[in-house]
Parts: sequence; structure tokens; C-alpha cells
Amino acid sequence: MTASNAPQKSPPAKVLVFVDLPGGELDDAGKGIISEASRLAKTLGCEWSAISLAGSENEAIQEFAPYGVPGVTLIEAGPGATDSLEAQGQLLALAAAELGASVVLLPHNDLGGSLAPLLASQLQAALFTEAIGYDSEDDGLKLMRQILGVQVAESKLWDQSVSLVLTMNPRVLSAVVLPTMQRSELQISPWSSSTAVAAGPSRIVERIPPDPQTVDVTEAEVMVSVGLGCNEQGFEQVKELTRLLNASLGVTRPVYDLGYAEFERMVGQTGKTVAPRFYLALGISGSMHHLGGIKDSKKVVSVNIDSKVPIFPNSDEGFVADLRDVLPLLIERVKSATGGTA
Ligand SMILES: Cc1cc2nc3c(=O)[nH]c(=O)nc-3n(C[C@H](O)[C@H](O)[C@H](O)COP(=O)(O)OP(=O)(O)OC[C@H]3O[C@@H](n4cnc5c(N)ncnc54)[C@H](O)[C@@H]3O)c2cc1C
Repeated sequence: MTASNAPQKSPPAKVLVFVDLPGGELDDAGKGIISEASRLAKTLGCEWSAISLAGSENEAIQEFAPYGVPGVTLIEAGPGATDSLEAQGQLLALAAAELGASVVLLPHNDLGGSLAPLLASQLQAALFTEAIGYDSEDDGLKLMRQILGVQVAESKLWDQSVSLVLTMNPRVLSAVVLPTMQRSELQISPWSSSTAVAAGPSRIVERIPPDPQTVDVTEAEVMVSVGLGCNEQGFEQVKELTRLLNASLGVTRPVYDLGYAEFERMVGQTGKTVAPRFYLALGISGSMHHLGGIKDSKKVVSVNIDSKVPIFPNSDEGFVADLRDVLPLLIERVKSATGGTA
């Protein structure tokens, strides 16, 4: 085969990760998506860098370094663009094109999920949202998404013939700095568009943090979950504890069956799959149907009166105790630690 009729190889991929800095801070979603970008670049064997909207967040940008981010492009959004999703999407698309990104990676949170379709349309790119995983395949990626809870995985192939806008399900993002990540000497490059961008009809008026009492449990950061080991009075105490801790309430199926909570709060195989930073399991035996829904939790702590229940070997810390004693004490302790207004 001569050089002229050899198959055309795509240019090497380049991953550009969009890092949102809500309130000028690098939050867990930001840290998680940076780690994911490093992993994705490794999977594709390519270069990567980060991009953010410029503001007054120098300290937050310095926090990128432990994750090995080689460079950060700071988009000077200018007045009128900071509160416009459409303008931000256009600026990001212009910068991504100029930087030669073949994959733009975002977390699938409120901002990332809204920017992704705008970006894909501007870049004429393929769009794959809420991925839970990927693998290298040929020169591209096999991308996976969960549908219908844990039961069905959908996969698609991206072959680098067009660029890709990819959002990751926040549930699979981990904010941990891995020992394999090498601290970088950050190269920070300001970027502004030579083309004027138009603000669209929608405006970002305010960014309101989610209310743990009402947030979808799949997005909960801290959860207190309750099983049949709690009676009705105990359940009221658990509700008070969740309010004091600013946590989200979860229940097992029998507790849902008793009518103590709505279906949306049920955790497990037929309920929701959760991935909080902290999962407190109170009076839960730890059936496989329940454990299936909590295996992605970062830390599980459990309390049960019976030392032999399966929740214990599936917990980071377990306490053999009677909830009728523990709950009033726990509430009292939390109240005194927070002045009762946590
Ligand atoms: C097809 C199928 C799907 C299912 N899907 C789900 C699902 O999505 N989610 C789910 O949760 N379940 C599900 N189940 C039900 C599941 O099999 C279990 O029955 C359920 O998880 C048990 O809930 P539990 O831990 O609250 O109750 P139990 O198993 O009865 O456990 C109660 C625990 O409380 C402890 N306890 C009692 N008194 C106290 C006390 N005073 N202090 C401290 N501890 C105490 C006991 O030692 C016990 O371990 C499903 C079942 C089937 C067949």
C-alpha cells in the first residue's frame, strides 16, 4: 500500500475539561471531572488541559495542580456573557476549536448539562451525556450510560471522525487525588474571543445550592438511611437528625412499604442507586437488594443491634447498638456541636 492510498489516520485526540468554579471555588464535581479528564487522556493516550471561565478565583485554580493539570485556559467572558448560558456555550466552543480539542469533557451537573448541547451544536460535534464509563476501542472510545437504574447499560462507539462533547454522570466522579497523579506546574493562559458573542434569551439569575431535604437522592452528598430497626418514634428522630446534619433521607423497601416515605427516597435494587460521600445506615440489615444501591457510597457507617448482619462487612465503620439509645444521644450531640442550628 502506498502512502497515497493508505487509510487516513485521525490526528491525535486532545481532551479539554471544562471546570466550573461555583462561588469561585473548586468543588467536588470540579475535582472529580479533572481526575476523570486525566484518566480519559490516559485511555486515549493523548494530551489534556482544563478550561474555566475567568473570575477572581486564583486560589481555586491553584487547587488544580495536585491533579496534574498541565494547563488551564481562562476564558475572559466579559460583561454580558457571565450570566448568559448561550454566550458561555459560544465562548467555550470558540476556545475549544482554537485549542484543537477533540473531546470536551464536562460534569453532568446543572451548568455542564446545559452547556453540553450548546457546545455540541456550535462545534458540530457528537454528544454523549451522563456517561458512567468508557473504554478505548480501536482509535476511539466505547461509551457507556446507565438506563433504567442499574439494569441496562447502553453503549456507543466514538471513532474520532468528529469531535465529541462528553458529560459524565456525577455519581461516578471521584474527587480523590490518586497516588499516580503528579502535581503539575500549572500553565495559566488567559483567552478572549476575537469574535463578538451574543447573549441569548436565557439568563443565569442566581445559583442556588440544592436543598438536601428535597434533592434527588442520587445527587445527595450526605445521607441518613433508615430500616425496619426504627419504630415510628425513631423515624421522627431520624428525620430531625437529617435536618440537623443537612443530610438527605433514604429508606429501605420495607420502610417505604410502611408508608413512612415516598418511593423517591427508597434506596436499593428497585429503588435509587446512590453515591453520597457519607451514608449512615440505621437499623438496616444489609440485604443484597439494599446493598446494590449503596455500593458507590464513599463511606458507609452503620448502626445495628445485631452484630451478625451483612451491613457490617459492607461498612467502613459499624456500631452494635440499640437505636432507641443512640438516636436521642446523637441528636443531642449534633445539637450541642452546632448550637442546634445546623
Ligand atoms: C426483587 C426485590 C427487590 C428488592 N428491592 C429492594 C430495594 O430496592 N431496597 C431495599 O431496601 N430492599 C429491597 N428489597 C427488600 C430486601 O430484600 C430486604 O427485605 C430489605 O432491604 C430489608 O430492609 P431492612 O434492612 O429495613 O429490614 P430488616 O432486614 O428486617 O432489618 C432490620 C434491621 O434492624 C435491626 N434492628 C432491629 N431493632 C433495632 C434497634 N432497636 N436498634 C438497631 N437495630 C435494630 C435488626 O437487627 C435488623 O438487622 C427487595 C426485595 C426483592 C425480593
